Amino acid sequence: MASASFAARIIDWQREHGRNQLPWQHTHDPYRVWLSEIMLQQTQVATVVDYYHRFLTRFPCVNDLARASIDDVLSLWAGLGYYARARNLHACAKAVASQWQGRFPPDAASLQTLPGIGPSTAAAIAAFCYGERAAILDGNVKRVLTRHFAIDADIARATTTTTLWTLARDQLPSASLVKSHPDAMPRYTQGMMDLGATVCLRRKPKCPSCPVAKTCMAFAAGNPQDYPVKTRKTRDKTKRDVDLLWLTCAQHVLLEKRPSTGIWGGLWCLPTDVAIAKQLGLGEPLAMATFAHELTHLQLRITPWRLDCPKTPAPTIKSSQLQWVSINELRAYGLPKPVRALLGGTDDD
Ligand code: SF4
Repeated sequence: MASASFAARIIDWQREHGRNQLPWQHTHDPYRVWLSEIMLQQTQVATVVDYYHRFLTRFPCVNDLARASIDDVLSLWAGLGYYARARNLHACAKAVASQWQGRFPPDAASLQTLPGIGPSTAAAIAAFCYGERAAILDGNVKRVLTRHFAIDADIARATTTTTLWTLARDQLPSASLVKSHPDAMPRYTQGMMDLGATVCLRRKPKCPSCPVAKTCMAFAAGNPQDYPVKTRKTRDKTKRDVDLLWLTCAQHVLLEKRPSTGIWGGLWCLPTDVAIAKQLGLGEPLAMATFAHELTHLQLRITPWRLDCPKTPAPTIKSSQLQWVSINELRAYGLPKPVRALLGGTDDD
């Protein structure tokens, strides 16, 4: 093993200082690795661990997940955010079950054809499960590479992404090393992830502990914090007002199924049309205090409208998008975070 190469230093460091006890490690099962990789996109390890175990208990294999209803998947996913991931997860499981006889494709190129699996995720699965010599390029790896090679072009630009992909591929362990050491690719891939997550930190990188500090150009120049470069201004988030009708009747809450695209796509939610209460002849709801909730591109100002109707039983609803749900069964529904927080006190009402 060429001890001076970038990859060799990452591999040696990972063995000794990397994360080696994560629940999705020590397996070559693509279902488990894929599940963890999708969950880890935009979510911290500490949060993912519980969800990962819950998903595996409920859906032990990809065919179980493929057979589940999207409502079941979304309700188990509730709280992880970025719900497009859950919808893609389900679509991907179905594609694996129907087009690949329940077995994940055997290489990064074919993995990429599945819903929700981009080039970096495909490479991670292929490296961990099949030892394939494929490069990952997630946000952490971009930070490491832009600093190590002092790439001062805007990382939002497509040309910079192309440069970074080339750099990522150039640093991979050599083909002969990968051939002679089956654990080289899993270890290197994990090492790059670990380095970005635990050493080459966004705010205060721990350069003295870094295995590639000797060759890092940003470290030598004393300016790691200047990378990656983002020249494009972050756009101000669009503000949007949202009304939520919090209507309870006979120990039931009225929920509405959101359209599959847009905010909280496919989740059950409180209805956003306050007039429904009147249309059902239940009276006028009262406005509660407005509160803010941030989404990736939107800043929501949410006003809940509360009405606790004394009628029993709750009136019949003739819409497939609306449903009375027993307060005791709310936990089984995938609700957006602010709605779950709002209804948190419902059991005690
Ligand atoms: Fe990141 Fe510092 Fe290592 Fe360079 S030396 S890759 S800036 S942690």
